[in-house]
Amino acid sequence: MTIKFNKPFADGKELKYISEAIEHGHLSGNGPYTKRCQAFFEERYNFNKCLLTTSCTDALEMTALLLNINPNDEIIIPSYTFVSSALAFVRQGAKIVFCDSRSDHPGLDENLIESHITSKTKAIVVVHYAGVAVNMDKIVNLAERYNIFIIEDAAQAIDSYYNAKPLGGIGHFGCFSFHETKNIQCGEGGLLVINDEKFVKRSEIIWEKGTNRADFFRGEVNKYGWVDIGSSFLPSEINAAFLWSQLEKIDEIQEKRKKIWYWYWDRLKSINDFIDLPYIPEYSTNNAHMFYILCKKTDDRDELLQYLKKKKIKAVFHYLSLHSSSFAKKNFMKVNLPNSDYYMERLIRLPFYFDLSEKEVDNICKIIRQYFKK
Ligand SMILES: *Cc1c(COP(=O)(O)O)cnc(C)c1O
Repeated sequence: MTIKFNKPFADGKELKYISEAIEHGHLSGNGPYTKRCQAFFEERYNFNKCLLTTSCTDALEMTALLLNINPNDEIIIPSYTFVSSALAFVRQGAKIVFCDSRSDHPGLDENLIESHITSKTKAIVVVHYAGVAVNMDKIVNLAERYNIFIIEDAAQAIDSYYNAKPLGGIGHFGCFSFHETKNIQCGEGGLLVINDEKFVKRSEIIWEKGTNRADFFRGEVNKYGWVDIGSSFLPSEINAAFLWSQLEKIDEIQEKRKKIWYWYWDRLKSINDFIDLPYIPEYSTNNAHMFYILCKKTDDRDELLQYLKKKKIKAVFHYLSLHSSSFAKKNFMKVNLPNSDYYMERLIRLPFYFDLSEKEVDNICKIIRQYFKK
């Protein structure tokens, strides 16, 4: 029996809601399901303004357009992240300045950021890796002092909190993903949270292909036209209908994922001579986005992955530090980021999805313990 790495959750209601969207006759973006999903996030997390997007990558692109990012700007981002955290700003010609992770957690080290700030620094992208919050107070303070924008790449951070504040609601912008590998998913999808009211009006225009169509639909103008830059960032109602069925189940999904997380934790904490388990700082909640282990020896990481593969268990590693990618080497300053490389060389993500059973987790952990006993 093979254990997959990921299996997207779906409960059957998705098709019912998609059928309803078809009957309703509005399948393009910004229809009833889109509005329902946006209102859900605004109410549940008290977010100022939410817009569904086609992906988190797109939500990040919207922030780059809203901030008029250009080749004179520098953007500070962690190196240990998915490439999307950088792409939106690279497209606008900005210079990417890579910052290292903490030694106890793959998130940005808040104490290293200030040394990277120059007069050209326009924004800091924080990534709440594994749904665990970056230490935001210090970063918010820096942003205020230096007049810098904060963009939260909260792709992995739905339903997680920093000192009781929902992630994605602390910076000027928050960007979420509903890719099939995330806790809440609709195949491909995303969400832009606009926390700073002064960007709300323009964000609707950029979202709707540079037109003031949102004003028109609200009856504020009697025709709409081209008023600004933009693109087609809206997902169709088919995706929004699918997403809605997940949102209805969010508490059930989160409860089960947290159970799975502790199944792993309880069964692996005894082999701490060989591996480190995730660290959750006291200021952060755990949204059980993933379960990772860190091998104390780099050789173990690749050998253990092979061993798991032989036993038909799909585990994976990520990320190749962005600062050491061929693209970064060609385009940005060479830097040395030891913690980022540390996670790149030692981290393993174990299978993690709603349908995973306790028996399967038990089996996976047995095999991991077996590997270290030999
Ligand atoms: C998944 C992910 C993204 C990209 O999300 P998409 O919705 O696939 O564009 C961006 N950043 C991080 C940290 C992610 O984990």
